[in-house]
Amino acid sequence: MSNNVEDATKKLTRLLLENPKSKVIFMVGAGISTSCGIPDFRSPKTGLYHNLSKLNLPYAEAVFDIDFFKETPKPFYMLAAELYPGKFKPSKFHLLMKLFQDKNRLQRIYTQNIDTLERESGVSHKYVIEAHGSFAENHCTECNKMYKRDVFENKLKEYEKNPKKENLARCKECNGLIKPNIVFFGEDLPSRFFENWDLDLEEMEKESSKEQLIVIVAGTSLTVYPFASLPIEVPKTHHRALINREIVGDFLKEPRKLDIIIKSHSDEAAQIIADELGWSKELDALMEKHGILETIVDVNDELESISKELDKLTINEKDNNISNKSNDYVTKNTPEISNSTDNASTDKVTTIADKDTPKK
Ligand SMILES: [Zn+2]
Repeated sequence: MSNNVEDATKKLTRLLLENPKSKVIFMVGAGISTSCGIPDFRSPKTGLYHNLSKLNLPYAEAVFDIDFFKETPKPFYMLAAELYPGKFKPSKFHLLMKLFQDKNRLQRIYTQNIDTLERESGVSHKYVIEAHGSFAENHCTECNKMYKRDVFENKLKEYEKNPKKENLARCKECNGLIKPNIVFFGEDLPSRFFENWDLDLEEMEKESSKEQLIVIVAGTSLTVYPFASLPIEVPKTHHRALINREIVGDFLKEPRKLDIIIKSHSDEAAQIIADELGWSKELDALMEKHGILETIVDVNDELESISKELDKLTINEKDNNISNKSNDYVTKNTPEISNSTDNASTDKVTTIADKDTPKK
């Protein structure tokens, strides 16, 4: 790991240590879940949108277009089957956020992810704002009647086995299609998102909260609005930290004196944060409890490991004893799109691609 990453992360942990009662507001995206095996939506080659391109969608994001869904629900069902909660384990970064809760240092988690891994990691629902909804509840796309989680879940299982129209989840009242409360393009975000953000913002606007509320943005390309406006709205009196492979969004466009930029994978930074705050044993225990293996290898660490392995091979060759040990290092890339966008603050979900792609 580079010194820059370590130095920047220590800047953040110093701030947390110097203000022992301070709390953190997390704003997170797909990057914190890629090490769990969940494909990032927007990664060019490995992302979900790329995989969906096999389905002849008019454009990748159509899978989250409500009109498209009503006519062609199959791609969303395929995506839902792939992403359905329960298949994945939380990442190290999720567990770090759980530790912030346990230490009474968590103010809120705003997540763009629909994988519910924040809850899975043990963070209480009261702290988690799923800005783009989740699979926890469903509603009819015609009459808005609410349905419990298992209504869609059971149908999804049937549809997976037999993708016939009869196996789609339909409303008892009006026969409309039922879908999980995942926010599609053009749909409103949950009111909980706005209510809590107003409260947090009010708190941050108090002079006294200056070093008592610290914002950590992690694993997001900050391209989806209105989520991407959150860091912009943080008062300039407050520290914002960005943990991401690339500098994105407002951190790039309007950098601030108090910003802390940690150019790294979120799991890598999570480990340093835990070490520096003296929480590493607890983090290890959580990793063990969830059966999570250490899979993230920093590129530099990996290069070092490979060169060590090569050294061993050279030595072994001299000994005429080439070991056949397999290399099981896993490299996880989280290539996030870093192109910036207009500051189009709106209550509806929009993305660059959304704006640029012609709708039907
Ligand atoms: Zn209905």
